[in-house]
Order: sequence, then C-alpha cells, then structure tokens
Amino acid sequence: MNLNNVKYLCSATSPADYPRHNLPEIALAGRSNVGKSSLINQMVNRNRFAHTSSKPGKTQTLNFYNIDNIFSFVDLPGYGFARVPDEVKDKWSEMIEEYLFHRSNLAGVILIVDARHEPTDDDLMMYEWLLEMQLPHLVVGTKVDKLSNSQLKPNRKQIFDKLRLEPQTPFTYFSAEEGTGKNEVWSFIKEITS
Ligand code: GDP
Repeated sequence: MNLNNVKYLCSATSPADYPRHNLPEIALAGRSNVGKSSLINQMVNRNRFAHTSSKPGKTQTLNFYNIDNIFSFVDLPGYGFARVPDEVKDKWSEMIEEYLFHRSNLAGVILIVDARHEPTDDDLMMYEWLLEMQLPHLVVGTKVDKLSNSQLKPNRKQIFDKLRLEPQTPFTYFSAEEGTGKNEVWSFIKEITS
C-alpha cells in the first residue's frame, strides 16, 4: 500500500447508494466531532481528504473512500450530538444499524472515543453492537496530544471501565495532530484485510 491512489467514492444514506465493489470495508464509528475524518486524513497522509469540521453533527451520511484499491474506509454518521431533534437522531442510528448489520463487505470497525473524557452511553451502546455482531474491532482513544503523561494511565482505565473492555481488547491511543498510534491502526487494518 503506497497511498498513491486514495479517492473519495460517494456518500450514502441507504444501501441503494452504497458503492458496488468487492473491497473489504473498515468502518469508523464515534460521536460527532470526535475526530473520525481527521483520523482518515492522518492515515492517508492528506490534510483535507476526508471532510473535517469543527461543527458537530455535520457528517450525516456514510462516506466511502477507496484506499489504493485494497480496502475502503467508511466514515459513519457521528452519533450523540445533543442539539438535534429526535427524528434526526433516529435516522442516524437507523443508518448505522442498517450498515453494520447487513453490509457484507464490512471487515471490521474502528471505534473512536475521545481520550480526554469518559466514553458516553452512546459509545457503550456502539461497542455492545460490535460485540453482539462479533465484528473485529479496534478501540481508539483519539486527541491524545491533549493529555499529559500523568493522564495516560487513568484515562485508559476510564475507557476500559466504561466500555467494559477485556484486558486483551485491541486498544490504542491516537493523535491526528502528531501521528501517534498510526502503526497500531495500520496493523489492525492489515490484519483484517489480508
Ligand atoms: P468527525 O466529526 O468525527 O469527523 O471529527 P473531525 O475529524 O472533523 O474533528 C473534529 C475536530 O477535532 C476538528 O477541529 C479537528 O481538528 C479536531 N481533532 C481531531 N482529531 C484530533 C487530534 O487527534 N488532536 C487534536 N488536538 N484535535 C483533533
């Protein structure tokens, strides 16, 4: 994978709009504004490839990206944004559920949580879906550049406790600013797409 051939494929709100390809897909799940697009950009060494925004709740579609014709990143709609009406929230969870439960290309999920805070009930619900579906997964604590060294251990414990992760659950800290954790994310992607 030399990352010379990365491209945006399409955005979709329902299965009819998903791309028809045979690529394994790695879905990125997390609260809106947690840093999903930034993680994609850091992974493919681009600044403005996946759309990033400082406005929570902007990504309301599933966004598909082709990475060197080897796999596809799928940026799922961010959940847990408080200031939207219930109908909109329902639509989001419907989109996510539809994709996670039925998409045969789905190879694994990267669940992204904010390293600074205790994961939310929505994060826990998402993690429980992944377990229920027995999907290969990696939990990522992003924005680690905002933690001091003394916070690394307690915050990791906070994430493991809230999500009830097993000691062997794959986890890495990540920073889209500094590239921390990139190797760990690549290892996970390679493991499940090879
Ligand atoms: P998305 O809604 O999950 O796709 O989130 P974005 O990728 O658009 O990021 C939301 C905001 O968080 C943006 O202002 C990013 O610059 C910022 N951000 C994302 N990842 C990191 C990170 O690792 N470190 C820091 N310091 N900021 C980040």
